Order: sequence, then C-alpha cells, then structure tokens
Amino acid sequence: MDFIGYTMFLCLVSIALCYDIDIDLDLDPDLLPRPLIVEFPDTRLKNITEELNMQCTSWRVAAEANNLGPWKTIPRECAEYMKEYMLGRSYKIDLETVSKEAEAYANSLELEEDGMDAWVFDIDETLLSNLPYYADHGFGLDFFDSAQFDRWILEGVAPVIKPSLKLYENVLRLGFKIILLTGRGENRRNVTITNLTNAGYVIGENDHEKSAIAFKSEKREEVIDEGFRILGNLGDQWSDLAGTSIASRSFKLSNPMYYIP
Ligand SMILES: [Mg+2]
Repeated sequence: MDFIGYTMFLCLVSIALCYDIDIDLDLDPDLLPRPLIVEFPDTRLKNITEELNMQCTSWRVAAEANNLGPWKTIPRECAEYMKEYMLGRSYKIDLETVSKEAEAYANSLELEEDGMDAWVFDIDETLLSNLPYYADHGFGLDFFDSAQFDRWILEGVAPVIKPSLKLYENVLRLGFKIILLTGRGENRRNVTITNLTNAGYVIGENDHEKSAIAFKSEKREEVIDEGFRILGNLGDQWSDLAGTSIASRSFKLSNPMYYIP
C-alpha cells in the first residue's frame, strides 16, 4: 500500500470509530484479535453459565405455569440444568412446599359425616416417582417411548414421593375418601397397587382407582355423579387438575420432565 492509500485507510478507520457507523469491531472481543487458542476468561464463562441457568429456570417456571405450548422434550441446552434440579434439593423442596400447603388446606376443612368428601390423587410423579427411569432418558431430553416406559412400570419398583405419602396419610386419617386417577392402563392395575403398597401407601379394598387415559375431567365427573364431593386434587400435570368437574382446590406438583396434554 502506498503512502496515500495507507493514509486514506487510517482516515476511514478513524471516521468509523468517531461516528459509530456499522462496523462491528467490538461486538465480540473473542473474535478480534484472533489468537490461535481462544481462552474465555473465567468471568465470561461464569456469566454464560448464569445466563443459561436463568434461561432454563425461566423455561421451567413457564412450563409449570402452563404457559408453554404442548412440548415433547426439554430444551437440549437445559439437560444439565434439569438433571441438577431433579436430583438436587430444589425439586424436593418444591414437592414439600406443595404438600405442606395441601395438608394445611385439608386440615382446615370440616368434613361431612356421610363419607363422601373425596381427595383425588394422580399416581405417576405424584404418589410414585419414575425418576430412575427418566434419569436413564435424559430427564426429559429423550422422546417418550411408551414401550420402554411400560417395561419400567411392570417392574413395579417406582419409589415413593415422601411428601405425597405424608399428605396421603393425613387425608386418610382425616376421613377423606381417596380416589386414584391414573393414566396407567387397566391391565397395569395389579402391579400398580403392589408398587403403591410396597412404597408405603395403604390402599383400601374399596378405594377407587380409575384409569383416565382419555380425559381426567370425565373421570372426575363420574366420581361426582356417584355422589362424591371432590375437595382436593394433587397431580403433576395440568391435565390432572384443569378442565371440568374440578376440585375445590387443586395442587400442582413440579414436573419439568414431560408434558401430558
Ligand atoms: Mg402424573
């Protein structure tokens, strides 16, 4: 470059810097200058991790609040976040908080003496945890495989969700009729009852267990038609709780791993 050309180049760069025109010289400090090995500063890595945690927390809260459209898997970039949430203290605390509130509500009620006051419980991710299964499937990262999940169900070893067991025992002691509404098929009734019993739940011979693959609202309506008053409902999906024939109060447990419409 001759002297005049070099001077003009310097002038152009100066003008660009002075007037902030669209030359993105400082958009990404890791691109310019470009060393052979790019080392991100620790603070920048920390910022990226914090931002990702906030984004994934935001996604989880939106999922819990039913603000997302139907979804089939968790966001791929939230895989590690979801693992930490599900296996860490946060998920346990979230379960405990909901069950404590539900328990306070149940204790506050005066039941009729006709034995028709009822409490509805969902089973999966409500009374029993399928966390061991989902741990092997990316905590919601894999597409749901009904055949594989069914094999897991048949093992009958889903562990108890302790805060739910505490609530279950409390509403039983208070005199509620317990009604189990589950998406599990009728042909899984025996293994489910055995699993529940082994997990610590007392299942009465006359307790209602209704399969609700189609619509839980319809099943609740059947329960109400039988004369029951549904005062409480505990589930992990909005489809357990919303719709028609809803309970006087519904309690939503955390479950960011899957969505059932
Ligand atoms: Mg469930």
